[in-house]
This record gives sequence, C-alpha cells and structure tokens, in this order.
Amino acid sequence: MNVVIRKAGLYTMKIGIPRALLYYKYKHLWEFFFDELDIEYIVSPETNNEIVRKGTTYAIDESCLSSKIYLGHVEWLINKCDYILVPRISDYGSGGTVCTKFQAIYDVVSNTFRDRNIKLLYYNIDPKAADFEMIAFLKMGKFLGKSKSRSLYAYLIAKQMQKCAQLKEIDEQKQRLSENKTKILLIAHRYNICDKYIGEPIITFLRELGTVPILGDIASKREALAKSIEISETLPWTFNKELVGSIPLYKDKVDGIILMSAFPCGPDSLVNDIVIRRVKDIPILSLMLDEHEGSAGIQTRLESFVDIIRLKKGDFNEKT
Ligand code: SF4
Repeated sequence: MNVVIRKAGLYTMKIGIPRALLYYKYKHLWEFFFDELDIEYIVSPETNNEIVRKGTTYAIDESCLSSKIYLGHVEWLINKCDYILVPRISDYGSGGTVCTKFQAIYDVVSNTFRDRNIKLLYYNIDPKAADFEMIAFLKMGKFLGKSKSRSLYAYLIAKQMQKCAQLKEIDEQKQRLSENKTKILLIAHRYNICDKYIGEPIITFLRELGTVPILGDIASKREALAKSIEISETLPWTFNKELVGSIPLYKDKVDGIILMSAFPCGPDSLVNDIVIRRVKDIPILSLMLDEHEGSAGIQTRLESFVDIIRLKKGDFNEKT
C-alpha cells in the first residue's frame, strides 16, 4: 500500500499528510521539516479506487478530480493521526496567484468533515498579509511546541533538501532528453501526472510504446516563469505559468506535447486552449481525465498520437 510512516524517538503527536495536491510540490520540505523537529508523521497511501470513491462521495459534483482525490486522502487519514496537514496558499506575490482550490481547501476540508472531529494543522502563504513561507513555518513550529531557533533550523535544512531534490530530478531529466528515442513532453500538474491513479498509467503506457516521457513540471521554476510570457503575458496562475513556460524550454528537444488535465479544471481549460492556438509545428494531444475515464480509450488515443509523431519523423519503424 506504500504508506510512509516516520517514527521519531520521543514523539508526542502524529501528523497526517494527504498524498495529493501540494504534497507533490512540497514533499521534501514537509517531510524534512517534521524529521528535523522529531515529529512523527504518516503519509496516506498511493491513490487507489477506494480513495477516489470516498473522495468523490464527499466532494461536490463541480470539484475537479484532483480535489476529489484530496478529500479521499484526508478521509483515509482520519483516526490515524492527531492532526492533518492542510496548508492554505493564497498566492505567491509577484510570482502570481493560485487556483481557488488551494485558497479554499482548508475551509472545504474543515466543513466537509465537521462531524468527524478532525483537527487540522495549517500554515498560510499570503504575501499581502506578510505571511511568507519562512514565517509560516516558524508559526507552525511554534504550534507544534518547538522553539523559534529549532524551527528555523528545521525549515532551512528542509528547504535545502527540497532544492537538492529538484536539482537532482532536473539532472535526471537532462539524461532522458539525450536518449535517442521519441520524446513526449507532458504538461500536467505534478499532483496529476505523478498520481498513481491519474498520471502514472499514462507514463507507464508511453514507456511501453517505447517513448520517453518528459515532465514539464521538472524544470527550473525561475526559467520557466520567465519563459511563460512567450506563450501568454497575462496568465494569473503561478503553477500554470511554470508549466507553460516549460514548453519554450523543451519544445526543440521533444517530438510531441501532451496536455493532461483533471476534469473540470478551469485554469487548465483556458491555458490548454491558449497553448493549442499559439504553439505551432509540433503535434499536441489534449487529455482531460475524470474518475470514469477508461484506460482503453486513453491508450488508443496515446497509440494514435505516437503513430502520428513517428510518421511525421519518418521513424514509423522505431523500435518499441
Ligand atoms: S488547477 Fe485545476 S486540477 Fe488543480 S486544483 Fe485547480 S481546478 Fe483542480
């Protein structure tokens, strides 16, 4: 089931971390922060059918698949820990804002599970209210009973570890880019493309077809944000800007682009439309996934897409 449990020697509480949404962005930051503070934590398992079913039951119909999955992970953690970590991100200041789901998720979780007696651990990121990340982590450390100096040390170590992990994955992706095979750039939020239920089957199938998946989310965020204006100068959402900015960074090194989104994602719908209109001279496939999507239909579309790319390259007999 792949549940992560980190036990400290002397712990007084256990934090539950839902393996969904921002976990995929802040995994190292959160885990190393709690490690350094000797706080025990548990990460919910990889997404499975039961988690999706539970999340769908609790969510309103209009929620995106990613938020439904998030609620399923929160539900899994209930009664398995003292606090569930649900941060509230308002925006990233000059870097842009975020989808409303990240602003509302704390209130959505507390209201959805108000009868289940859950306790939430949170921090706010809101530059307009001077809630910057470091201050937010110091406040969280204080809530957890840790001194300011210890929390600061834990935060700085965790931040460094997160940076190392990012540099390592960029290096690994550089190696994949040098492979002499058909390469496909996946423009998808990491919480979708790395999720066992949504994105992993797509990556696995692309590999089975003999192609090399390249993740748009693995790139220097600073460079991607700067490049995003080549696609659009007016996008408000930081995560989408980082993703579309990876297209100019990688376009000349890949053979096709897949835009993968979770139904019914508002930001992605708009952004994908812009990408399809403005990015030329490369095959683009758009996939919108929901909880009812069957794998057979997706695989057929992926196969056809890869065939088109190989035909265009004149590599129809490329070994798979
Ligand atoms: S950006 Fe889209 S997929 Fe992500 S949380 Fe918002 S609506 Fe859901």
